[in-house]
Amino acid sequence: MKNEVTAKIYRAAVVGGGFSGLTATALLSERFGGENVLLLERNDRVGERVLATGNGRCNLPNVVLSPGRYHSVLGADVGYALGKYGNKSLIDYFRALGILTAEEEGRIYPRSFQAGSVLDVLRAEVARRGAVTKTQTKVTEAVFREGVFRLRSDGGETFGADALLLAVGGKAGKAYGTDGSSYGLALGFGHSVTPLSPAIVQLKTESRFCKGLKGIRQKGKAYACDGEKRLSSAEGDILFTDYGVSGNAVFVLSSYLVGAERPSLEVDFLPEMQETEIVSFLKQKRRRFPEIPTEELLCGVVNKQIARMLAVNFATDKKREAETLARAAKRLVLPVTGTMGFDQAQVTRGGIPFSEFDPSTMESRRRRGLFFAGEVVDADGDCGGYNLQWAYSSARCAVDGISAFLGGGEGR
Ligand SMILES: Cc1cc2nc3c(=O)[nH]c(=O)nc-3n(C[C@H](O)[C@H](O)[C@H](O)COP(=O)(O)OP(=O)(O)OC[C@H]3O[C@@H](n4cnc5c(N)ncnc54)[C@H](O)[C@@H]3O)c2cc1C
Repeated sequence: MKNEVTAKIYRAAVVGGGFSGLTATALLSERFGGENVLLLERNDRVGERVLATGNGRCNLPNVVLSPGRYHSVLGADVGYALGKYGNKSLIDYFRALGILTAEEEGRIYPRSFQAGSVLDVLRAEVARRGAVTKTQTKVTEAVFREGVFRLRSDGGETFGADALLLAVGGKAGKAYGTDGSSYGLALGFGHSVTPLSPAIVQLKTESRFCKGLKGIRQKGKAYACDGEKRLSSAEGDILFTDYGVSGNAVFVLSSYLVGAERPSLEVDFLPEMQETEIVSFLKQKRRRFPEIPTEELLCGVVNKQIARMLAVNFATDKKREAETLARAAKRLVLPVTGTMGFDQAQVTRGGIPFSEFDPSTMESRRRRGLFFAGEVVDADGDCGGYNLQWAYSSARCAVDGISAFLGGGEGR
């Protein structure tokens, strides 16, 4: 960056106006005065991705919170941040901003069930605290020179700040401004980035079984497997599509399949029944209705098209139809051939390794005064509110770290 004159040196600059950046900006403005805090966002407006969360309903935290719900490439030390600023802290913070919450199967949502209301209060808080917000400003360069972080935007504008928070998100969902290009800002300070993969994402499967089931949604239990080994299970919707499977249970399990050598999904369409119970039910049904074709034996038990698909593929020996149908309904193995990729994924596996920053302050170990928050680091949570939780918890730790770094709250 050339030796330009930077008009104003802010106390803190936040790059990225997503969930973590907005939270941090609001809190930093409260502490240092909004006129001393700068928020830079590349999109036309802040928080585009917040609006997309939870199918537009914004699944904030989850009632069950533990570090075990988080994944990484090199190890995510999320315990401190989640312990200090956990789900209760998040709920209380939003309550103080005017949002009540409601729970559905462990997932917490704004009581309005509208993601827009979460974004509205965050935006209002940032504005009320008077933070200087600039949209349509993509930061393309960041350096530290003469005791100041100096930023340059794609439009050629320059900015200066005593402390810098990179809250630029990851590589998932480029439609929301996160295309992976902003890891380069951290690389410039000597950081590294782990290999990246899409997580919480639809799965491509071998099409043999899914062909003809496009659009069918069935409740069930599924297991993420690597070869014969079951890695995790989830209950919920399984939606069949032209490329493979989607739905809540699939999203949850996709996070466990990243890096698997022989990934597959094992689907149990009748988790509430033992296989032997299904066999005796089907045998009874056969005795009562000797005329119905095998393809219809499971109709009324699972979705009709699924019943037919299972019969066509597995019940070829009429004498053993009850056993083979019951087995297939309890254990349909779908080999996974890939994912729908970063553009469709909800989060990124990988990022800046935890060894390169202090997880209690989120401060870089490469450059003092540089901080991180949210998805940009090597931590991704399960589907179910864990990622907004991490964005919040890490942002709060970063605000603590920045406050300690800058000392008092007075202006420069
Ligand atoms: C469809 C969808 C649904 C989801 N649903 C949920 C859910 O219900 N619950 C949950 O917990 N999680 C959910 N997630 C995940 C969650 O949205 C993210 O993990 C979380 O928003 C990450 O927050 P962040 O602040 O780290 O990054 P982001 O929210 O991605 O924000 C990063 C911001 O930085 C901006 N930016 C990037 N580079 C630059 C730059 N160089 N200069 C200026 N600005 C820049 C981007 O435009 C973006 O606005 C969902 C994700 C998607 C895509």
